[in-house]
Amino acid sequence: MQVTPKVLFTEAEIKQTVSRLAAQIRQDYKDKDLLLIGILKGSFVFLADLIRELALPVEVDFIKLSSYYSGTETSGKVTLELGLKTKVKGRHLLIVEDIIDTGITISFVVNYVKRKGPASLKLCALADKPARHRVPVHIDYLGFTVPDRFIVGYGIDWDEKFRYLKDICYIK
Ligand code: 5GP
Repeated sequence: MQVTPKVLFTEAEIKQTVSRLAAQIRQDYKDKDLLLIGILKGSFVFLADLIRELALPVEVDFIKLSSYYSGTETSGKVTLELGLKTKVKGRHLLIVEDIIDTGITISFVVNYVKRKGPASLKLCALADKPARHRVPVHIDYLGFTVPDRFIVGYGIDWDEKFRYLKDICYIK
């Protein structure tokens, strides 16, 4: 079956949105030592653009999770595949995630990171599907609100496909 992604947000719209988010984050953290925590793999393109727009001397670390999917739905089971290597106690942390869907994955990450005793913890998400939340999620910096569609492109995959697309797209 041929799957053809359809554009939801163009490269230009994404660039504008990343600049807006970076300006907000820069304002809030300009006098603070900030550590960004990217959630692999889906956030890597967003994070790469964000740190260059931020123009702050931030540090970066990554977390990798596995969530078990049935089709395009999470089963709600999340396990940590790669934890933080950086010491985060007493530091200002910003988690960078690609998409918030049910909110289960990000709640897991927030609990995991909070236990390590950061000075502060906020969340930046490229996209959110509010209609799909199953647990409460607070997003401090949000790029796009998206409909209940399966998103690909701009680092986000479907079975490892379509990460390379410059636009944020959806597939049927
Ligand atoms: P949640 O735990 O909030 O249901 O799901 C979050 C994770 O599921 C995201 O980090 C992302 O990896 C994946 N996910 C959720 N919605 C989508 C989507 O529309 N497209 C893709 N490719 N992954 C998604």
